[in-house]
Amino acid sequence: MVSKPKHFSLLALVHLPVWLICLVLLWPVSLEPGVLEADQGSRTAPRIVDYQHHLPRSFRKRLRDTNRYIVLHSTESGLRSALNTLSRRGHSNYLVARNGTIYRILDKKYRSHHAGLSMWNGQTNISSHSIGIELVGYHNDPFTDAQYRSLKWLIEVLQRVYDIPDYHVLEHYRVAYGRPNRWVKKLHRGRKKDPGVFNFSRARAGLTSKDPRNSVLYDPDVQAGRLIRDPDIDIARVRLVDRGRYDEEVAQLSENVITRRNTAWRIAREEYNWSTTVYHFPKGTIMRGNQIRNWDRIPVGTKVYLHRDRAEDVQAVTAAVPVITRGTTAFDIAGPSYKRSDTYYIFPTGTIKHGRQVRQWSRIPADTRVLVRYNAPVALNKAARQAVSQDNTVFLVPPNEVLAAANVPDVSRLKSGTLVFTKK
Ligand SMILES: [Zn+2]
Repeated sequence: MVSKPKHFSLLALVHLPVWLICLVLLWPVSLEPGVLEADQGSRTAPRIVDYQHHLPRSFRKRLRDTNRYIVLHSTESGLRSALNTLSRRGHSNYLVARNGTIYRILDKKYRSHHAGLSMWNGQTNISSHSIGIELVGYHNDPFTDAQYRSLKWLIEVLQRVYDIPDYHVLEHYRVAYGRPNRWVKKLHRGRKKDPGVFNFSRARAGLTSKDPRNSVLYDPDVQAGRLIRDPDIDIARVRLVDRGRYDEEVAQLSENVITRRNTAWRIAREEYNWSTTVYHFPKGTIMRGNQIRNWDRIPVGTKVYLHRDRAEDVQAVTAAVPVITRGTTAFDIAGPSYKRSDTYYIFPTGTIKHGRQVRQWSRIPADTRVLVRYNAPVALNKAARQAVSQDNTVFLVPPNEVLAAANVPDVSRLKSGTLVFTKK
């Protein structure tokens, strides 16, 4: 009896500092998990830029229903344009730039509208149950090492804070679904393609769980018959059995050219009839998706360009010599070919580089011309006469004048020192 309070007070004495320390340690975590990010392994932590002050004043922050999932996206645009679009409406919680910098668009505890029409395991409206992370880039162009490093770090932090297993970190294309259209007659997967069935690596993002639900081939809603499968998943399956055929099919799909199999829907998905999707027919006619009436008569060889809201974005790709304008990227013009050694960049100064020589893709100046799949330039007097007269031949007249052969009535009058680029 006597010893009890004595014992108690002793325990309390011993434990008090421990409790104090615990309280101090846990306090910021429970108060605002944001602090945790800054504290996580400060040596390896990527740079985080708080971008929340760019949200409009009218944006109403509200908490999510649950924190069950993380959904990963690709922006399908460059950094600047992505930051503007996302923060205008709070359409993501995070954005991971190509150099690995993480932008906090909207604090992780708030609902961001990023998943749209979506379903996973019978649960709809996934934005109300998930944190959204955008990667700057395209669904058919590899993400950078720095992006994977930062993404892995960010996913781990969020997994710890909200107790989210690997198999609940999902790609947008896996949770999005679409209503019936002229190509797919039922509710279906495949409304979205980001961050890329063939492009995004779960392993590089640290999602290595052996649980069968951690595979992109796993889809509880298709399994249950609620949705029809995305045809790209069939190709993903081919990878396991025939790598050569897989690579061939992927290369064909990623060029955004209409073939008998690569339909407008297969390329643009829900955006096939949007005004921002531009169709460049083989004969040169240009139409926006909302102007097309007869989808059965789109000729094979038609090129499809996505996210071309501005008239100058269309001019950029359809110009006699395509040109990078402000706000567009090399990828916007050349697609997955932008890094190839037969894609040439003629800078405004007249400097020429091919895709393997460009180091800083974010610093390509406006007015740079882009020649996709061209032969290495030769001096005009050494060029074959026949090649020179082709309409898609391009001249670089010193020091920096770029001319399409179609606009040059008399080649013999071009200055000496002129270089000739012929199409492959
Ligand atoms: Zn997305």
